[in-house]
Amino acid sequence: DALDELAPETLVVWDKTYVWHPFTPMKQYMAGDPVIIRRGRGVKLEDIHGNWYYDGTASIWLNVHGHNVPELNAAIEAQLRRVAHATMLGQANVPAVALAKRLIDVAPKGLQRVFYSDSGATAVEIALKMAVQFWANQGRRTKRYVLGFLNNYHGDTLGAVGVAPDPLFHWPFLDLLPGHPRVPYPYPHDRLTESLEAVEDVLRTRRDELAAVIVEPVEGAGGILPAPPGFLRELRALCDRYDVLLIVDEVATGFGRTGRLFACEADGVTPDLLCLGKGLTGGYLPLAATLTTERVFEAFLGEVEERKTFFHGHSYTGNPLGCAVALASLELLLELLPALPAKVERIRAGLAPLADHPFVAEVRQAGFMVGIEIVADRATRTPFPYGAQVGFIVARHAWRRGMLVRPIGSVLIFMPPLAATETELDEMTAILRASFEDALPELESLAQ
Ligand code: PLP
Repeated sequence: DALDELAPETLVVWDKTYVWHPFTPMKQYMAGDPVIIRRGRGVKLEDIHGNWYYDGTASIWLNVHGHNVPELNAAIEAQLRRVAHATMLGQANVPAVALAKRLIDVAPKGLQRVFYSDSGATAVEIALKMAVQFWANQGRRTKRYVLGFLNNYHGDTLGAVGVAPDPLFHWPFLDLLPGHPRVPYPYPHDRLTESLEAVEDVLRTRRDELAAVIVEPVEGAGGILPAPPGFLRELRALCDRYDVLLIVDEVATGFGRTGRLFACEADGVTPDLLCLGKGLTGGYLPLAATLTTERVFEAFLGEVEERKTFFHGHSYTGNPLGCAVALASLELLLELLPALPAKVERIRAGLAPLADHPFVAEVRQAGFMVGIEIVADRATRTPFPYGAQVGFIVARHAWRRGMLVRPIGSVLIFMPPLAATETELDEMTAILRASFEDALPELESLAQ
């Protein structure tokens, strides 16, 4: 069709002329050779020049079952023939209802309601607004701040930036929604006590101002820093003690990414609000969800004139195509779960030699989330300067060797689709090892 006939040279020019890419320094992007994807099969993607690559970041941390999966295609096609979209404002659609029931079946026990949206950031915005209004509906208008953790990432919308501002990326917006306290995240794990004490200090002194605590079970965009076992359980206890809601952001960790369906399961914790996105549709369509307990939900019930309603929604909330593919993806994932621990160990074994690389400070892994930290000096952990873009140096070698990976600063992120076979995982980790070898001369000259 018309899209297949567009010539590669035309696409490159149009991309550089008309498209503004997310989270991308465009000056540098326009000077380079863009990778434009034409199609995908299994855990590989093909660009417009016919090069095939392993999808080493699961298409920004969300692909679960690979690309062009017959069961997922079929679910979308079947739903297309029923209806592509209908509003959820005051009505419902069949896949959205069925998916809500299925999500509650598998989610941490005690979660009971599903509020849909379209991206991880909106799932977070909704959780933040629900937390504030939960207290406001009970006459507690002062409880309107949210305690977050330094270096956690919850998305790029203003509310998400308000509770997790990154001084490097979000500098123009830092004071737009001020006043949300932040405390250190427990990584390395010997900082657990310090982190929990900092949480308790804030909760003790500001309990009447705090609506919620928000946390990532694994700090993702911060560089893949897993919290220690027991951390979420302790947080849950502190939130209960000081009458503050707990929001767990599983946008990145949800749907098998850590090797369990949800990361909260490891600590047996049920948050008051759980944010989900990314892998919810297997990486097929934009859909997100904020799950809540019945206690949270009930605070929004009342007579119309009481104005307890949660007046929040999006045009595409509960999109039937997204919900239909999410249902199909979830069933496939439940079948895949038993195979995940062996794959996680395969990744670990494949990347273990990198711990000896002269410029690798640490290989951090939480299931299918891996961050390889590149430093100028291992002994002192001295980083390369920000502008050195050392992550991209290694990533470019991986692209050349046939795998797409993306760094975050000086941390190379590896995040394969969960359906990758053990053989495919071996090939991907071999590419990573080789790419770090390839990068040695450049890193050596930068480190001088
Ligand atoms: N929360 C976490 C933990 C994330 O990792 C991300 C995205 O990387 C988000 C929220 C935002 O999700 P989205 O990019 O879909 O808006």
